[in-house]
Amino acid sequence: MFDYLIVGAGFAGSVLAERLANEAGKKVLIIDKRNHIGGNAYDYFDDAGILVHKYGPHIFHTNSSEVFAYLSKFTQWRPYEHRVLTTVEGKLLPIPINLTTVNTLYDLNLDSAGLEKFFDSIREEKQYIRTSEDVVVSQVGRDLYEKFFRGYTRKQWGFDPSELDKSVTSRIPTRTNADDRYFTDEYQFMPLHGYTRMFNNLLSHPNIHIMLNTDFGDIEGIIPYKEIIYSGPVDEYFDYCYGKLPYRSLQFKHETLDVAQLQSVAVVNYPNDHAYTRITEYKHLTGQTGTNKTSITYEFPSWDGDPYYPVPRPENAELYQKYKTLADALPNVHFVGRLATYRYYNMDQVVAQALTTYNKLNQRSVLTSTVKQKNGKSTAQYRAAS
Ligand code: FAD
Ligand code: UDP
Repeated sequence: MFDYLIVGAGFAGSVLAERLANEAGKKVLIIDKRNHIGGNAYDYFDDAGILVHKYGPHIFHTNSSEVFAYLSKFTQWRPYEHRVLTTVEGKLLPIPINLTTVNTLYDLNLDSAGLEKFFDSIREEKQYIRTSEDVVVSQVGRDLYEKFFRGYTRKQWGFDPSELDKSVTSRIPTRTNADDRYFTDEYQFMPLHGYTRMFNNLLSHPNIHIMLNTDFGDIEGIIPYKEIIYSGPVDEYFDYCYGKLPYRSLQFKHETLDVAQLQSVAVVNYPNDHAYTRITEYKHLTGQTGTNKTSITYEFPSWDGDPYYPVPRPENAELYQKYKTLADALPNVHFVGRLATYRYYNMDQVVAQALTTYNKLNQRSVLTSTVKQKNGKSTAQYRAAS
């Protein structure tokens, strides 16, 4: 009998498997319906020998020393600061919008103080910032909003920014200096040998059994286990009883080109042209040299395909709350991760959420065994009584 069945071998499932097996001595079965571990962070060496990300570019960044220290037990790191350019009116400009972006776009020569005044003159005053449009126009005005954000967001989400919660475009800051890094987090690294190697290290423990190509529905009720950790879509767990929660998907087109380098940075965004949102060139992430080929990925947003992004809209938050009420009523099923808690979380946030979940499970198990010792009651009796 397994102590835990873990559904999904992404960050949420794998971190919990490691903690429960390694720290708490539990027997764990982790399953994934895909043919690999790592969830959406899975990477592999393609035919050109380049390490590519099957589900689009995954750049690790965090301000959490705890998350960084935890993952550092399973990987070495390669320092990497992410930079993104975006194509507007035939120019390649830094995004997040910064001093260089504005000066190059409008052919100006502002300094930081001048740019602050410029933004003050074009920003739209908003009493309340509710939507993703409000966020951007209140900072940089309508022209920059339309050139850099409106088209990209419509393509990425299938909704206008005015129809999306402010949290979506709030991920992208506005800068008045020339800092062109995509993130400013304290820790910015890529796993030296890739994510999949890191996941292998997380999961290589005698108490962890892995079953790939296995859907939860195929083994539910067949393999005995005491508790479940579930990191798939929460609406699927409950057979969509309140209706489907929307998740935005992407189609990835991977290509290898006979050139040493395609673009000057890892990611180039296309807010206003093409059906794809961005092109990623992986050699920038890995620092791989010694090949005259390069591998790239185009991302085409769609509603069909694997669920990737919860869609931050008020009606979806409301629907999620109904599923959460059902989830909270199941003491032996724990919902963790981006799909199961319907949160637009980055990798580090999912790791933090999994570590917090582990601490809760651990405290509960300490509590139940203490109560058991004191009262001579079984765990099941304690749970039934509490
Ligand atoms: P997942 O990685 O989705 O893992 C869930 C797993 O559960 C999947 O492998 C799935 O196959 C499995 N599963 C689902 N249902 C079942 C079932 N019924 N039976 C069996 N298995 C099941 N984050 C960053 O920090 N930096 C980035 O640069 C970044 N870039 C991203 C780019 C893209 C294109 C996307 C889509 C996401 C990006 N993220 C990034 C977010 C990152 O992917 C997530 O935060 C992280 O992977 C979530 O981990 P998870 O374990 O919650 O979910
Ligand atoms: N965004 C945009 N233009 C850009 C970059 C981002 O409009 O050039 C918006 C878009 O809505 C996107 C959101 O900001 O979904 C968050 O961007 P991020 O790069 O964090 O998206 P992710 O990497 O999660 O897809």
